[in-house]
Amino acid sequence: MEDSEASRLRAVLESTVRRMAAEHGGKTRYREPLFGYARADDPRWQFLRDTHVPGHLLPSEVLPGAQSVACFFLPFEADLVRANAVATVCAAEWGTAYVETNALLTLMCAELERAFAREGVAASWQQPTHNYDPVSLRARWSHKSAAVIAGMGEIGLHQMLITERGCAGRVSSIVVAADLARGAAGRSRPSFCGYFAGASCSACVERCPVGALTTDGLRRDACRDHLKVVGEYLVRHCSVPEPLDICGKCCTGPCALAPWGPAATPGS
Ligand code: SF4
Ligand code: SF4
Repeated sequence: MEDSEASRLRAVLESTVRRMAAEHGGKTRYREPLFGYARADDPRWQFLRDTHVPGHLLPSEVLPGAQSVACFFLPFEADLVRANAVATVCAAEWGTAYVETNALLTLMCAELERAFAREGVAASWQQPTHNYDPVSLRARWSHKSAAVIAGMGEIGLHQMLITERGCAGRVSSIVVAADLARGAAGRSRPSFCGYFAGASCSACVERCPVGALTTDGLRRDACRDHLKVVGEYLVRHCSVPEPLDICGKCCTGPCALAPWGPAATPGS
């Protein structure tokens, strides 16, 4: 594949994501989406399965003939982050954003699959959420790990993806039988998380209301139990239509809207 053809296919993907994020008709507003591309034969896929997420699918297991994985991040607006930062339990708007964004990401992936098919390129994707093993609670396909391999950011102390536009938002990915990583701009930054940069930040740990998050890691069972409590609270008190696994307090700190840094304190 020529660089120009890869560039053209990336433009198809990016324009589709931007258009659908702007026109989705819900209440949630997003900042400018962020994109990243990884080669399907990058050795970090196998490393991910061998060392971090046993059972994680390889791109070629999602799509035979896979050549690349395209990732896109929809960053939430600052007002939404602030609303959840100050909410006693969880902001209703945060619940709405969760529901709307999951639905939007599903629609986006389906539309992207059709758009690539019109170009004669196969594509396949995994659901934006609830694609995990019920026992280990580990994802069979981790969109945030895909985004790290695609160079979009790093995993912070709170176990979430921190991108150039922060961690407050949602990421998804689609596996493509064309090399969209060819000629794509790479990214690098020394650190996205203050804790791992050796600074004093541990705001996410301090914000966790149930002590599930510590500097030693995340107690997944404690976090999951609290997500269910919050989901039921939102149904009872905030007219959210269905129970959600949601909280997000740890995503409202100094890395919410931008990577950690002296100037990146909008959610704190
Ligand atoms: S709040 Fe601080 S320690 Fe936690 S993930 Fe963000 S930058 Fe890292
Ligand atoms: S989502 Fe909530 S319960 Fe889970 S680690 Fe973050 S702050 Fe703690």
